[in-house]
Amino acid sequence: MSRAILIVGAGVAGLGIGWRLAQAGAKVTILERGAPASGATFAAAGMLAATAEMAAAPESEIAFAAQSRSLWPGFAAELEAASGIAIDYRQNGALMLQPSPPAELPPGTVWLDGTAAQSRAPMLADGCGAIWAPDEAQVDSRALGRALAAAFTRAGGSLRTGVTVTALEPRAAVTDTGRLEADGVILAAGAWCGQIADVPLTPVKGQMIALQPPPGVALPEPVIWGNGVYLVPRDDRILVGATVEQAGFDTTPTPQARDDLRARAEAVIPRLKDWTLVEHWAGLRPHSPDGLPLLGPLASGVFVAGGQYRNGILFAPAIADHMRDLVLGRAAVIPAFDPRRFT
Ligand SMILES: Cc1cc2nc3c(=O)[nH]c(=O)nc-3n(C[C@H](O)[C@H](O)[C@H](O)COP(=O)(O)OP(=O)(O)OC[C@H]3O[C@@H](n4cnc5c(N)ncnc54)[C@H](O)[C@@H]3O)c2cc1C
Repeated sequence: MSRAILIVGAGVAGLGIGWRLAQAGAKVTILERGAPASGATFAAAGMLAATAEMAAAPESEIAFAAQSRSLWPGFAAELEAASGIAIDYRQNGALMLQPSPPAELPPGTVWLDGTAAQSRAPMLADGCGAIWAPDEAQVDSRALGRALAAAFTRAGGSLRTGVTVTALEPRAAVTDTGRLEADGVILAAGAWCGQIADVPLTPVKGQMIALQPPPGVALPEPVIWGNGVYLVPRDDRILVGATVEQAGFDTTPTPQARDDLRARAEAVIPRLKDWTLVEHWAGLRPHSPDGLPLLGPLASGVFVAGGQYRNGILFAPAIADHMRDLVLGRAAVIPAFDPRRFT
């Protein structure tokens, strides 16, 4: 008999895990209070920054990031085929601007002087060299959310929106419309996990803006990091992010953040002053006390997949596989990510 699994939250984590479990024959229901992939997954820049985001990370997270990064090409192709939705996975590399070469270059990168950096992104301001990371990639995280929802339901999963989960019990979820039982429950409610269960996950607000070029002006090819911002070419615009704010569950975009992001981006690419601001938004990253994910059991029949912080899109394929294997009893918990380390 197939196992019945409830997942709380239809972000990249819940949808990815649900898709993998449904493929493995489980009877999966995702409970989502709003629209699918409308939380941090919608807000994300979509970078798969296994180099740029891992500069100060512990070994456990670097290894997980590298593993997930290596899964991405196959995951993207499989997801597009399963959903019929393009997610714009691209390996265009990243330039990490800095005034002088680091003492030690990250693996797989090279140092470019200012002229060489400008040959990769001709609009860059004069003078600054960069670490060139050719393996960095990106994906359209909004399309990713739509594709995962489609692939999940096509694999036989049930997606129930408009359902708010208020508490978890062993093998059950308490919702605003009643109590639902299952063989296992997975909490994947992003920054809101701590409102539902006793997990130390808190929201960290991130604001972003999107700028559109004048007609005929091309976007830079790579992702560019510098001056406290990153610039991500996407469709017909460049995304600029992101603030890191302790603001509770507030997701209001502020004029100060908009102007600061724009000023920082214009110092990196002066010609952005002629580009048009077309969008400004905010989202909440799920953050744990040690900055590492929580992936594993909380109690009998209750699991959590949270705390991905700035890397939930990058980690998505590895989290989906790992949580499937944990729930089906085929894998052991990764000690550094064990949710019980805080109890
Ligand atoms: C501005 C910004 C930029 C980012 N850029 C990147 C990036 O470039 N690369 C990267 O890898 N990561 C990035 N991230 C991080 C990434 O977006 C997150 O780590 C990831 O999306 C978390 O996914 P999730 O599924 O856990 O949470 P979410 O996507 O937030 O999904 C959680 C879901 O749970 C639902 N939910 C909450 N409470 C309840 C409840 N009580 N009952 C039912 N449903 C509930 C919510 O409605 C939501 O749909 C960025 C984040 C932000 C904010």
